[in-house]
Amino acid sequence: MPGVAFHKGEFMPLEQAKVGIMTHALHYGTSIFEGIRGNWNDKTKTIYLFRLQEHYERMLNGCKVMRINLPYTAEQLSKITSEMVERTGYQQDIYVRPLAYKSEERVATLNLGPLENDFTVFAIPFGAYLDLESAQKCCTSSWRRTQDTTIPPSLKIGGLYVNSVLAKTEAVNAGFDEAILLNDRGHVSEGTGENIFLIRDKVLLTPTAADSVLPGITRNTVIELARNEMGLEVIEQTLTRSELYLADEIFLTGTAAHLTAVGSLDNINIGDGNMGSITRRLQDMYFKVVRGNNPKYMSWCTPVTPKLAEI
Ligand code: PMP
Repeated sequence: MPGVAFHKGEFMPLEQAKVGIMTHALHYGTSIFEGIRGNWNDKTKTIYLFRLQEHYERMLNGCKVMRINLPYTAEQLSKITSEMVERTGYQQDIYVRPLAYKSEERVATLNLGPLENDFTVFAIPFGAYLDLESAQKCCTSSWRRTQDTTIPPSLKIGGLYVNSVLAKTEAVNAGFDEAILLNDRGHVSEGTGENIFLIRDKVLLTPTAADSVLPGITRNTVIELARNEMGLEVIEQTLTRSELYLADEIFLTGTAAHLTAVGSLDNINIGDGNMGSITRRLQDMYFKVVRGNNPKYMSWCTPVTPKLAEI
């Protein structure tokens, strides 16, 4: 099924949505992107876009810092996205990629101010990113997460992801599934595209906003579900690498990764090396919510009924 993009202010076939080689963002990473899941519900024949508006609010925060002025509000961007998904006709899980970027075809200039901006969004069919059933093998990365004084890790700035790409590549080449990065102070930060939680004595612990983490929407979702639905205590606090080794359970959260168990870190088993029982219960609850199967959390799900592509 051919894809659909919203590009340069209009809907078009994905294959026609192109940029030139002099585009500023291609050279300098001057973009803000998002990743949004659309979860297919076969019973209702509906795709539920998860926490759509919050993703665009985060994107617009990034745009403010990167001086990318878009002529759209988060609400308008959400509407454009719903229409784009509707036009794709996809009846399966999808991943939506919005990109706000310095679109001017001009190199050898590093002042963002005068450069033109554009916004593009498209969707691709997308299943699991990390294995959701088996606990993942992770390593501590030799790369450190950036800090707010270098490139703000709290924003999804295109160029920032060189940090994640280096860490992920190193981990996979060494035979691991995912890397955990420490921050400049040597404290636990996050995965390459996921936030991290550990469970100790039935309490969930996760690094604070000041520990060089992206304020993940899945992280926030899991905190809400753990507190409100399971009555668990969740504490945001600075964590050390050795606290990870000694945790009862560890899991990662992210739009792509959903909620994925960590079985080992640096070849040291976490718990017994399998998915822990609290992680499994949280994962079950999370999937009901994101697929639109929990009436209490429907305000997080934007329904889209796909129709046959007409562009
Ligand atoms: N950290 C990083 C570095 C990420 O790229 C992501 C994915 N957006 C996350 C955490 C998780 O954020 P979210 O749950 O909002 O997808």
